Amino acid sequence: MSTQKYRCPACKQKTGVQILYGMPSQEAFEMAKRNEIALGGCCIDLEDPERKCTSCGHEWRIKRREVKFG
Ligand SMILES: [Zn+2]
Repeated sequence: MSTQKYRCPACKQKTGVQILYGMPSQEAFEMAKRNEIALGGCCIDLEDPERKCTSCGHEWRIKRREVKFG
C-alpha cells in the first residue's frame, strides 16, 4: 500500500494522502491514525475524490473520469 504524500492544491503543503475506499483492514486503520492514508467509506462513487489533505482537510480528484449518462 502506498504511503506517498501529495501536494495539496489548496494549502500547497505536502500533506495530501490517498483516500482508501472499501472496508478498511486493521492495517489501514492504523495507517489512517498516523495520517498516512484517509478512509473514504465503503461506498465508491464516481464523484469521490482520490486524495485528501491531512492538514486542511481539502479533498480532490487526481483525474477526470468520464461519466456516461444513460
Ligand atoms: Zn491542504
